[in-house]
Amino acid sequence: MAALAPAPFAGTLLTPDSPGYDDARRVYNGSIDRRPAFIARCGSADDVAAALALARRHDLAVAVRGGGHSIPGWSVVDGGLVVDLTAMREVRVDPGTRTAVVGPGATWAEFDAAAQQHGLATPGGEISHTGVAGLTLGGGIGWLSRMHGLACDNLLAAELVTAAGEIRWVDDRTDPELMWGLRGGGGNFGVVTSFTFALHPVGPVPGGVVFHRGERAAEVLRLYRDLGAAAPRQLSLVAVQATAPPAPFVPEELRGRSLAGISAAWFGDAADAERMLSPIRSALGRPEIDMLGVLPYCALQQSVDTSAPWGMRSHLKSDFLDELDDAAIDALVATAAQRRHPMSHVLVRRLGGAIADVGPARTAFAHRSATHMTTIVGVWDAAGEPGPESAWARRTWAATRRLACGTYVNHLEDEGGGRVREAYPSTTWARLAALKARLDPENVFRHNQNVPPAR
Ligand SMILES: Cc1cc2nc3c(=O)[nH]c(=O)nc-3n(C[C@H](O)[C@H](O)[C@H](O)COP(=O)(O)OP(=O)(O)OC[C@H]3O[C@@H](n4cnc5c(N)ncnc54)[C@H](O)[C@@H]3O)c2cc1C
Repeated sequence: MAALAPAPFAGTLLTPDSPGYDDARRVYNGSIDRRPAFIARCGSADDVAAALALARRHDLAVAVRGGGHSIPGWSVVDGGLVVDLTAMREVRVDPGTRTAVVGPGATWAEFDAAAQQHGLATPGGEISHTGVAGLTLGGGIGWLSRMHGLACDNLLAAELVTAAGEIRWVDDRTDPELMWGLRGGGGNFGVVTSFTFALHPVGPVPGGVVFHRGERAAEVLRLYRDLGAAAPRQLSLVAVQATAPPAPFVPEELRGRSLAGISAAWFGDAADAERMLSPIRSALGRPEIDMLGVLPYCALQQSVDTSAPWGMRSHLKSDFLDELDDAAIDALVATAAQRRHPMSHVLVRRLGGAIADVGPARTAFAHRSATHMTTIVGVWDAAGEPGPESAWARRTWAATRRLACGTYVNHLEDEGGGRVREAYPSTTWARLAALKARLDPENVFRHNQNVPPAR
């Protein structure tokens, strides 16, 4: 593909000698320590095109960085060039059309805060410092997803810089196939420099979390499963197995002990909230910790930020499940209990609702019929070894593997091409590879969960 002559780079180009280089190469996962040759901090689509031209001229590997939360650290590359979008974080909300135009460096905290000024929101991630960009391009699953779909289902348009340096406006009219690919195909097709989202009215949210002692985890997971099976789409549920932190909301005697809980958020009529949430509070008797209440949406979106602080060293394993039977629950509980680190945890999120309304061929994110998603996070300290807790995460993941019906591209580690393929059914994969061959035939964007171009 012929490269275009770009406008001059007007951003900031950092090299290993530049002040601020070490901060700029740091990503969310504290176990990633890579040293790029250049970090091109871009301020515009023109800068992105110029940075890609620089990489081409020097034959450098390219990494693209939005919020920097890729667990395997795809957003930073040894010896290559990072297209750093962190300075492009403007969020413009139009309450009249209920749309928002969001820069590729924005976090969900910034997006949510701007949209909530107008009582609006779109489905986003559950940790507020995660980037809008990477999360949306891989799918985007969060509290609002059963009600309003994935983040990518709410993506209306994008501005994108191709591997050849062309700046394009993409929507369902100008290039429906590329738009299809941006809704779940990850960062394979170019650098997105602006996202346009649909927004929905979202007010204060009845919800929160209740915890029982960890010994009751199997009962808690069964309750989560049974409530979720009957729940309307307005109810979002997550089962949690974690260790009680030394936080003010935890009674002294429970600190450091294993807990099992259910997190919930109700987006329906406020008059029905008590009826919907009361089984969570009381079906298993009085919980040890009851934090159900009514939260501003931004508070809900930040409510578990402390469970995943910047710099945490972690290993993540995840799958989509067709179902959650008793044997899987028992196996999951047994291995989850073997975690060693107080920050390691296991989540099971109920899917369905609006996620399943969209046909599997309508977006590159295709695992629409899955009913649960597991998320297993193994954590270790700077002084510790990753091995034992990573091995624990893999064992715990294996406990439900027989019920897996695919995996989530945004929850993959660097697990090889076979696992990336599990994120897509074969017809989706063939379409993605053909789209890749059209947009990026030389696979410039390969430092990612890669879809190689069809030959
Ligand atoms: C603590 C934590 C919580 C999470 N919670 C959720 C959650 O609730 N729901 C969920 O769905 N996922 C969640 N994830 C997974 C998350 O979706 C992915 O890690 C995602 O890649 C993060 O996006 P980012 O922009 O922060 O990451 P980055 O590391 O900046 O980007 C990841 C990859 O996305 C691509 N990319 C990023 N920006 C662009 C761009 N502008 N143009 C083209 N490609 C780009 C690149 O390939 C890049 O390597 C979570 C991850 C973490 C670490």
